[in-house]
Amino acid sequence: MLLFGIITTVKIRIAENAGFCYGVKRAIKIADEALKKNEIIYSLGPIIHNPQVVGEYEKKGLKVVETIDEAKNAVLIRSHGIPPQVYEQISEKNLECIDATCPFVKEAQDYAKQLYEEGYFVVIVGDQNHPEVKAHIAYANYKAQVINSIQEAKNIEAQKIGVISQTTQSMDNFVSIVSEFVKKAKEIRIFNTICDATEKRQESAKELAKNSDLMIVIGGKNSANTRKLYEICLNFCKKVYHIETKEELKKEWFEGVENVGITAGASTPSWLIEDVIKAIEKIENDIY
Ligand code: SF4
Repeated sequence: MLLFGIITTVKIRIAENAGFCYGVKRAIKIADEALKKNEIIYSLGPIIHNPQVVGEYEKKGLKVVETIDEAKNAVLIRSHGIPPQVYEQISEKNLECIDATCPFVKEAQDYAKQLYEEGYFVVIVGDQNHPEVKAHIAYANYKAQVINSIQEAKNIEAQKIGVISQTTQSMDNFVSIVSEFVKKAKEIRIFNTICDATEKRQESAKELAKNSDLMIVIGGKNSANTRKLYEICLNFCKKVYHIETKEELKKEWFEGVENVGITAGASTPSWLIEDVIKAIEKIENDIY
């Protein structure tokens, strides 16, 4: 079901699935509970890829650190998860471990470990610099190869291939890479670890983009799943903009536009989406 907010001649529609996913809501809830018991907690990396939310939580006592060495008393593990060695460091330093790793990410980590132990050449479809993928590599004992395109799949010569995906990958890309392996490997084990939330957000963004003159994608510029939504929308809509906050909206984007579609990454809170909608309504009132 799409939500409609009609302003003069312009129709604003929000993608059926947009904004906070299960894993992010869960991580925020875990952080909230932990902050009731601890004045300061150290988050290993930003709790989610959204600067506005990170800023809010910083004020509440959630300090972002890059390494365990910078942390004291309690450490929050965000939804992306961490390598097994980091759990060991936390334990060695006697720090309280507040684990908000998304259960779907945990499942992918287990598959990475299983595939490695069963002798597969482990392939992870995703971005090798993303923290979630870095942890998957560690669970495959640092023997996994990360790829993101059919061309890279063509270069893999292994005969026994085990494949998992970063949870935020696009299904189309995952399917085309796996199809490439089917053509040449003798044995393939595939775990579809693309998260349902990601798939649903991508599908509804695609459908909305097809019927919109302008798409606004809201979310952190550092959020992989938001950037992916932006890329998907670009394939179906001529005008697509990725913004973090309402302040980035420009009046000229809306001139001559009848259908505005809005989607948001899994780490974008609803208050940011509402802010943007109100700002668009104001711009439209100025134009018409
Ligand atoms: S996108 Fe999916 S896997 Fe990632 S945190 Fe959200 S629910 Fe978990």
